[in-house]
Amino acid sequence: MQRSKIKPETMEKKIIATTSLAGCFGCHMSFLDIDEKILNLIELVEFDKSPINDIKKFNRMVDIGLIEGGCCNDENVHVLKDFRANCKILVSVGECAIMGGLPAMRNGIPLKECLEEAYLKGPSVIGSNHDNIMPNDEELPIILNKVYPCHEIVKIDYYLPGCPPTAELIWEALYALVTGNKMNLPYEVVKFD
Ligand code: SF4
Repeated sequence: MQRSKIKPETMEKKIIATTSLAGCFGCHMSFLDIDEKILNLIELVEFDKSPINDIKKFNRMVDIGLIEGGCCNDENVHVLKDFRANCKILVSVGECAIMGGLPAMRNGIPLKECLEEAYLKGPSVIGSNHDNIMPNDEELPIILNKVYPCHEIVKIDYYLPGCPPTAELIWEALYALVTGNKMNLPYEVVKFD
């Protein structure tokens, strides 16, 4: 059960930013699943760069950055480094950010083999890609040799486990970070089963 929180009277709103790298947006969905707590949230924070408000660039130094997804291409790395440079606290949210998650299942297979399976030899493409074309437009991000968890690219301050982390876990952790209160994370909030 999610608990309501009250904004300390003298507290200024904190600024938060969010992004989805190699993720599925499920962690963002879980964040929004705090339901009516969203009203408490907007008393506590303002959003800067985030897909939630569609702000594309940082406009100021941000207090807390929430990262969904790991890094599977050079654009992910660029965005993650941009978040590290513009956020005082950086949080890896969910298994993809923490360990690479489902996208990292390709890490045990050579990249060339993955691309051939996806574009040339896989059951869904075999016989249809007559010119054996691999996507190579210069505007496409460059795929990395493997999917990296965020902490292998930049320093991460906190980790919120789960796929996705529960809405209550995200809420409890965010409230503690925003107000400076101790985190209240009982087993029911962080359990995986
Ligand atoms: S941790 Fe799970 S919910 Fe979050 S981005 Fe990865 S696959 Fe999606």
